[in-house]
Amino acid sequence: MPAPTNKESDDLEKSIIKQLVAVVGEAAVLTTTEDTGPYAVDWRRRYHGRPLAVVKPASTVEVAAVVKLCADNRVAVVPQGGNTGLVGGATPDESGTQVIVNLSRMNRIRGLDLVNNTLTAEAGCVLATLQQAARDSDRLFPLSLAAEGSCEIGGNLSTNAGGTAVLRYGNTRELVLGLEVVLPNGEVWEGLRGLRKDNTGYDLKQLFIGAEGTLGIVTAAVLKLFPLPKGRATAIVACETPRQALALLSHLQANCGERLTGFELFSDYCLGLVLKHFPASQAPFAARFAHYALVELTDTLSADRVQSVLEEALAAALERHMIKDAAIAANESQCRQFWGIRERIPESEAAEGRNVKHDVSLPISHIAEFIEAAEASLVRRLPGIRMVTFGHLGDGNLHYNVSLPQGMSPDAFTGVADELSRIVHDHAARLGGSISAEHGLGQMKREEITHYKSAIEINLMKRIKAALDPDGIMNPGKVI
Ligand SMILES: Cc1cc2nc3c(=O)[nH]c(=O)nc-3n(C[C@H](O)[C@H](O)[C@H](O)COP(=O)(O)OP(=O)(O)OC[C@H]3O[C@@H](n4cnc5c(N)ncnc54)[C@H](O)[C@@H]3O)c2cc1C
Repeated sequence: MPAPTNKESDDLEKSIIKQLVAVVGEAAVLTTTEDTGPYAVDWRRRYHGRPLAVVKPASTVEVAAVVKLCADNRVAVVPQGGNTGLVGGATPDESGTQVIVNLSRMNRIRGLDLVNNTLTAEAGCVLATLQQAARDSDRLFPLSLAAEGSCEIGGNLSTNAGGTAVLRYGNTRELVLGLEVVLPNGEVWEGLRGLRKDNTGYDLKQLFIGAEGTLGIVTAAVLKLFPLPKGRATAIVACETPRQALALLSHLQANCGERLTGFELFSDYCLGLVLKHFPASQAPFAARFAHYALVELTDTLSADRVQSVLEEALAAALERHMIKDAAIAANESQCRQFWGIRERIPESEAAEGRNVKHDVSLPISHIAEFIEAAEASLVRRLPGIRMVTFGHLGDGNLHYNVSLPQGMSPDAFTGVADELSRIVHDHAARLGGSISAEHGLGQMKREEITHYKSAIEINLMKRIKAALDPDGIMNPGKVI
C-alpha cells in the first residue's frame, strides 16, 4: 500500500481530533503548541515531545472511547498522570502523531470502606489528597514521596512508586487490592475487588502495576488503608560510614520492631549542598560527620511511648559506639526541618550543576560493598568526580548520583555520562541489584535494561506486551 500523502495524513489527524472532541468535549482536547507544551516535557526537562493532542477525559467511559478511537486508527496513546516521572515515561515522541491521555480530571474518590480498610479512588487523584482523605477518616494511606503534592495515584500505580515508608508498608504494589483498567483495544477490565485473599488464577492487576502505561490505562484502584499512627519520633543520626548506618538499621529493627517506618541515608556532601542552596536550612549538629541517617518511628497505640523507644535505642547505640551522635526532633517543626534536608537534596544537586542520576537497588547486605566499590571505580575513571549519595537505605534503594568534577565543562561530563552509568549499573548487577529501584525504565533505561535482564526475561515481557497490545499503540518506545 502506498504511504499516505501529507494531505491524507493532515485529513486523518483533523478527523481524529474531531472525533476526540466528540467524545470528551472541545475544552478537554488541547492541540496548540502553547496549550500542549507543559504536557509534552518531563519534570526534569530532559525529554521533549510533540503530541498530536492532549486529551483529558473525565470518566472511564470517556477513557475507553478515546482509547478505542485511537486503536481503530492505529494512533499511539501516552498515558499521563501528574507528569512527575523521572524516566521520560509520560512524554510522547516528536512525531506529532501520539495522543497524550491525561487522567487529571478523573479525580473522584469513589468510596471509603472503613470496615474493610479500603479506599477506592480514580487514577487522577493527587496522592496528597488521598493521604488527607484517609487521615480525615482516622486512617493512613502510607505511600509518601516528595512529589506527593502533584503526582497522581494512577502514575504511582503505573510506576510502582516507592518513597519513604516502603520499609514498613511496602511499595505501591503492596498497597493495592483491585484495579479498573482500560485495555489497549478500549475494553474495560473491571477488577475493582477489595479482597485480601483471592486465589482464582493469575493476579492480573500485578501486570498493570509498574507497567508504565504500556499495557493499558489504569482508571481506578482499591487501595489499602492502615491505622493512623498516634505518634512519631524523628532523628538524624551521625555515622562514620554506610556500614555503620547499616548496623544502626539492624539495631533499630531489633529494638523498635515494626515502629521503624523510615530509614534514609545521606552523605555530608549532600548536607553541604542543601546548606549552600537553601541557606535557611540548619545543620543538625554543630560538628560535621561523614554520613547521616534520618530515622523515623511511628506508633499506632501510644504517642508518648514512641519518643522514649527511640531515645532508648539511640542511647544504647551511642553507648556501644555504633554511632557518632544523634539529634531527636523536639517538636513537629524540627521534624519537618529534618525531613526538609533530605527532601531538598535533589533540588540542591540540580542547582549545583550537571549530574548523572542513578536509582539502584541492592540486597541491603551488599549496599556498603556497592558504595565502596562503585566509588573506587568512578574516581579511577574520572578523578575529582563528586558522589551525591543518598536514598532509602532501609529498603535497599540508593539514589547514587554523581556530579561533575570542579572545573570540568558540563558538556564534557555529559559526554561520559553513559560510561559512568554503566560502571554504577555493572557494580549493582554484580552484587545482585537492579538498575531501577523505583523510577521505572521509561524511555531513559529502555536500552540499558537489555544489558541486565536475561534474554528469557526480556522475551517474556515482549510476549506479555504482544498479547495485551498486539498493535503496540500503548505508550510505544517505553520499557521494552
Ligand atoms: C521531587 C520528586 C521526588 C520523587 N520521589 C520519588 C520517590 O521517592 N519514589 C518514587 O517512586 N518516585 C519518586 N518520584 C518519581 C515520581 O513522582 C513517581 O514516579 C510517581 O509515581 C509518578 O506519578 P505521576 O502521576 O507524576 O506519573 P507520570 O509522570 O504522569 O507518569 C509516570 C508513568 O506512568 C504512566 N501513567 C501515568 N498515569 C497512568 C495511568 N493512569 N495508567 C497507566 N499509565 C499511567 C505514564 O505513561 C508514565 O509511564 C519523584 C519525583 C519527583 C519530581
